Amino acid sequence: MKSFHEYSLEEIFFELGIYNEIELDLATPKEVSYTIGADVGGPGSSRSVPTDVKIRKSDDFNRVLSVLFNGKIESKDKDKVYHLCPTCGIQNSFVVESGTGLDLSSYEPFKTNSSTATRDEYREMVNSYAKNRLEKMIETLFAGKSLRYRSVTIKCTYNEEHRFDFYFLLKRETCEDGSKFYFAKVGQYPSFADFKVIETIKYRSILKSLNFESEYKRAQGLYSAGIGIGAFVYLRRILEALVLQAFEKAQTENVISQDEYEYDEIKEAHSDEKRKKRRTFESKIRLLKDYLPKMLVDNAYTYGIISKGLHELTEDECITYFPALLKGIELILEQMHHIREKERLENEVQKEMNKIKTAMNTKT
Ligand SMILES: [Zn+2]
Repeated sequence: MKSFHEYSLEEIFFELGIYNEIELDLATPKEVSYTIGADVGGPGSSRSVPTDVKIRKSDDFNRVLSVLFNGKIESKDKDKVYHLCPTCGIQNSFVVESGTGLDLSSYEPFKTNSSTATRDEYREMVNSYAKNRLEKMIETLFAGKSLRYRSVTIKCTYNEEHRFDFYFLLKRETCEDGSKFYFAKVGQYPSFADFKVIETIKYRSILKSLNFESEYKRAQGLYSAGIGIGAFVYLRRILEALVLQAFEKAQTENVISQDEYEYDEIKEAHSDEKRKKRRTFESKIRLLKDYLPKMLVDNAYTYGIISKGLHELTEDECITYFPALLKGIELILEQMHHIREKERLENEVQKEMNKIKTAMNTKT
């Protein structure tokens, strides 16, 4: 599973479903460094008091600060979020506004009164100081509570009035061996589906022809509400409809028969006899390779899994795999849209050509 800091801002704002909790690693420092000071007890002594102790917070911690507390977002090109603005209707950049920053700078520097410890013992002291200081930072982050809510607004750079609000939650769970931390989106306006509406225009004609516009919206709605298996069921229906439509075309062209589509012939071991076996979804995709977008054929195995019994996947697995599979399906729909557009244009051109031909023939 992906770590929190590996999620792009686009994924956090536009793809993360509501109540989908991502575990955070806040308590492990990324790095603890210090300078070895002058030897205590003369040159060559094994005792040296550490100075200039520096602690680097984990990548997850920095990501939380950058998203929720206007922390500086690491690289320059990551300063903005890119997505379709539902109001503009086109791809735009957004600025993230998350209120005031969190001041984590004022902490007691590392101090020790001991002048008799060994270097190893001093290292231990620095490590426990680091642990303690991180714990204080976490306390500040959570403002002493176990749940902390933050709202974040993103603004379209084309028009500042295009503002969209997101609500996030930080959660701390105390367990036997310390604490566990989670990040979740708990609300947004406009809804997940609203952000998607514009995107679907590109392949709406395909969804319409399949009669699957509402299935598509439902899959997203369920996913954003944290219902993974349910969302998968709708994705499966869309996929099955796409494959069936491809088969119908192949059948009209007399390339593949109903029987071939339904059954596969398996050669029996140790004999020349062939046995009929119901075709799996994966095998249907491969059979229709000339009629389906390459993306679907290349990933027949993965898409075969969606169609397999959903009982083989857990709710969490469905939530985790959903965005990638949905993107794949959108790509397939887009490819189909292009194929159809091309066919339509070719037909139009052909008609025009025929007209010209007829006109020329009547002339001679
Ligand atoms: Zn806009």
